[in-house]
Amino acid sequence: MLTYPYRVGRVELLLVEGDITKVSADAIVNAANPEVEHGGGVAFAIGKAAAGCAKEYTKISQEELRRRYGEGRLAPGKVLVTPPMRLAEHGVRAVIHTVGPVCRGTWNDDHARALYAAFAAPLEEAERRGFASIAYPAVSAGIYGCPFERVVETFAAVVRDAGHRLASVGSVSLVLRERDKVKRAREILDREK
Ligand code: ADP
Repeated sequence: MLTYPYRVGRVELLLVEGDITKVSADAIVNAANPEVEHGGGVAFAIGKAAAGCAKEYTKISQEELRRRYGEGRLAPGKVLVTPPMRLAEHGVRAVIHTVGPVCRGTWNDDHARALYAAFAAPLEEAERRGFASIAYPAVSAGIYGCPFERVVETFAAVVRDAGHRLASVGSVSLVLRERDKVKRAREILDREK
């Protein structure tokens, strides 16, 4: 996969062009909805790749949600961890679900705060579990309609802010499928260098 490396303190930020279900990282992040129902977008792709069937992975995720939190919704800023199943074949140890804000083409301070929390929580979970690497999709940049540039900036801010605290995580990837999005993300990350 085409990879553009950046250094943020002692953390390596990798911009990767490709399919997140093919990535080898200790943790893969899912841009989940609060019901952890993997009906579309990257959630469907991860569910299908993990369990062979997105519906099956939804069932597993919803059971884990009830077991872990005793309720049927994943709150913003919280994470749910599910087993990698078939993704373990290329080294994935956990899928970490996070819920980003719904922007529908708009952007305000509430979206900014919610997206920051959605990116930060999986990183903390990965660190807590002693993982060395984690890979994110562009959370909220698809069906949830947040502006792509703001999503990349928020991701970069989270990595930058967490950098000095991380002892275990040394590599944080942002995985984008489309080449034009990679190009736009590179422009943003190059600007922040
Ligand atoms: P959200 O509902 O949080 O917006 P989506 O699943 O709609 O989440 O999309 C998040 C981002 O993930 C989008 O930019 C979409 O293009 C991207 N995406 C979808 N499938 C994949 C995949 N297999 N690998 C990497 N990124 C993906």
